[in-house]
Amino acid sequence: MRLDYIMYVIAVLFFIIAVASYLTLEGLALNLMVISTVALGIVFAFLGYYNRPKVTVMKTEVKTETPQPPKTETTGEAQVTESKTCPNCGTKVLKARKTWKMAGRPDKAGKRTQLEIGIFDCPNCNKAFREVLSKQKI
Ligand SMILES: [Zn+2]
Repeated sequence: MRLDYIMYVIAVLFFIIAVASYLTLEGLALNLMVISTVALGIVFAFLGYYNRPKVTVMKTEVKTETPQPPKTETTGEAQVTESKTCPNCGTKVLKARKTWKMAGRPDKAGKRTQLEIGIFDCPNCNKAFREVLSKQKI
């Protein structure tokens, strides 16, 4: 049983007593009974209103579902093999901003090593760094 309902019921009972007193009693007794019971009825009506439950019904129903968006990044793509780790903070950068090929010095046999170099932008510390993506003898 909610407290505010109890208060309202008591308030109504006092008003009923007040009406009954008005119908049955006379003179000074009538005045005293009516005034006191009406006053008490008002007090309990106010207490019932004061003890009414706070508006918590909405809050409990809002937080029932928390949709989790699927976080499937581009893991199945060929870009993964090109991912490099930032030398500054260790964050993995999946894709090079820019790639180009560069021929290195010729070795003793006269063969050059062609390097594929990529520039990566770290999303964490915003630093750009270069990494060798592949080496190839030409
Ligand atoms: Zn970084």
